[in-house]
Amino acid sequence: MKVPEKINMLLWLLFHDVVPTATFRFRRGHACTCCSISSETMAHCFFFCPKFYLIWLRFGFCPPNNASSIVLLDRVRSIFSSHAFLFCAVLWWVWRDRNNDVFCPGDPWNMDKIVGLSHHNANEFELLSSSRHPSFSSHFCLDWEPPPPHFVKVNCDGSIFICGQLAGFGCIIRSPDENYLRGCSGCISTDSSLVCELLAIWHGLFLAWEACFRNVLCETYCWEAYNLLHQDSVEVCDHQDLIFRIKSIMLRHWSVRFMLIQCTANSIADFLARNDATSQLDYSERSTPSNDLLTLL
Ligand SMILES: [Zn+2]
Repeated sequence: MKVPEKINMLLWLLFHDVVPTATFRFRRGHACTCCSISSETMAHCFFFCPKFYLIWLRFGFCPPNNASSIVLLDRVRSIFSSHAFLFCAVLWWVWRDRNNDVFCPGDPWNMDKIVGLSHHNANEFELLSSSRHPSFSSHFCLDWEPPPPHFVKVNCDGSIFICGQLAGFGCIIRSPDENYLRGCSGCISTDSSLVCELLAIWHGLFLAWEACFRNVLCETYCWEAYNLLHQDSVEVCDHQDLIFRIKSIMLRHWSVRFMLIQCTANSIADFLARNDATSQLDYSERSTPSNDLLTLL
């Protein structure tokens, strides 16, 4: 099946019952970090921890209660064979969420985030399987990849630095042959990283439109921004005006497609955002890359 190699590896660990859970590693009843009420066996880690059980239910998958590991694996195989892409995506984000709880206990993810990311990945795996374009690739890629023929790729990033005192955004547009086409960046007066990310997307799309690019892949690694832009209605919030502006420009006569990526694949946009956060310039646009940027391209 065409899914990222790390998910194939996770499936292999699952079906061989050798996932490195706390119980597996310590060979004794080590408590689950997520709920603290049970030993973290493989079955508990993926399916029966209350947090993850609810996530499976949200997708209509109901793991058997009090099942032996053989019955559980049979049930898992049956779900896998009928909903392979969705199963892989949910399994992956349950594992990521579990690891986030273990390694970043102060920054828990909510269920909507896991559900949204799982749907996104499942759609992406289906697209990958049906697409002949290797460049319509997964956001699991750690490195930036060029867009397919006839597309440009806009990478956007916004960030807050130095204890919330400096904020900046950066956008870069590149061609299928990996050439720099346009870029812009600036500093912003806000303490909201989400506003920075949305502003970066707005500037990136506007720059692409003004430069007459009409087939655009826009990449961000900000899940919150990605999710807000894919909701049908604009919720009442501090940045609703910004979301409305982005949605409006997307409705123009062109093709814009969003991709959620790893932050390591967005390093150039991140560089631009950091550079201009300290420059105090509200907005600067470049048709050729700066010398600093050239060394990174
Ligand atoms: Zn648990």
